[in-house]
Amino acid sequence: MNAQDVETNLDCATPDDPDPFRSGATTSRADRPIELSVIIPAFNEEESLGYLYDRLIETLDPLGINYEVILVDDGSSDRTFDELSIIAARNPHFRIIKLRRNYGQTPAMVAGIDHARGRVLVTMDADLQNDPADIGMLLETLNEGHDMVVGWRINRQDKWLSRKLPSLIANRLIAKVTGVNIRDNGCTLKAFRSDLIKRVPLYGEMHRFIPAMSSTLGCSVAQVGVRHHARQHGESKYGLGRIYRVVFDLVVIKTLLSFAQRPTAYLTGTAVIAGMLSIIGIGAALYAALATPEGSAVVYMSSSILFGSLALFLGLIGIIAATIHHANADVTQARIGEWSEW
Ligand code: UDP
Ligand code: MG
Repeated sequence: MNAQDVETNLDCATPDDPDPFRSGATTSRADRPIELSVIIPAFNEEESLGYLYDRLIETLDPLGINYEVILVDDGSSDRTFDELSIIAARNPHFRIIKLRRNYGQTPAMVAGIDHARGRVLVTMDADLQNDPADIGMLLETLNEGHDMVVGWRINRQDKWLSRKLPSLIANRLIAKVTGVNIRDNGCTLKAFRSDLIKRVPLYGEMHRFIPAMSSTLGCSVAQVGVRHHARQHGESKYGLGRIYRVVFDLVVIKTLLSFAQRPTAYLTGTAVIAGMLSIIGIGAALYAALATPEGSAVVYMSSSILFGSLALFLGLIGIIAATIHHANADVTQARIGEWSEW
């Protein structure tokens, strides 16, 4: 997604709106750093948004912390943006990001994550299938010392054959392939330390693989049971097509994770094979030069030089990959270590 594809009207809340946190004393919540950002992607969710606003306010105001809610309109074609604008005008804690077209849930979440200012980030859906009332519990669990808290839907209100069964199989498969055992990868309700989630590369439909993608950072993940409700308004944006996309993403993630853990192993392994082929080429060229008069030694020698160059090239890239990997690991550890409880 290019920068010009994101329109932020982050200041669309009118400044003269009554704000319980800005009135009165100078030490109001709005003066303090933002502790929590709730990120909610919405694609054609016009009917749910009013209820979502009420439920969020009910939950977030009593927490007594400075928060923001970032609502990302993922190129909706209905009145979603108008509804979001009304909400943002009513309450300055709510900010809107508008994407120019429908990019999908993961890019919409990433846009929200990039713009979030809170120390802790919570992600959830806009259709109220996740319950905002669970946010407090997620924050408490995060404060027990975890980097990420992942919800699992205790009593999932979706169809069994088309939704729950494929999910069950996908969760088992993801656990086996990635080695990260998460009960319910498809549950969007999660809480993260902001510095951690901002470092996780997410694209395609990888919002379902955040714990696996974060595993290279060595973070501590807790899982908590959360409520789940049947969709009351609008329609699900996914059909059975998600199954093949999950399998495809899984292959990509497995490759990324294996390579990220041992970047030099793959490169030096291939370099060694190329080096051996180069040596065999030299042997064959020598044999051909001495034993056969047809001049095939030139062909063997050329192949040998090609394989030798490849081995050298891959070896050098391996060294660079190892250097970057170690430097990055140090920075990541240092950043993670900087965080303290809020
Ligand atoms: N969503 C989005 N862009 C998309 C598809 C979905 O922002 O292209 C949002 C959607 O509005 C909802 C969340 O992602 O807030 C989850 O989508 P949905 O409820 O359709 O998924 P399901 O619960 O059926 O798995
Ligand atoms: Mg839903």
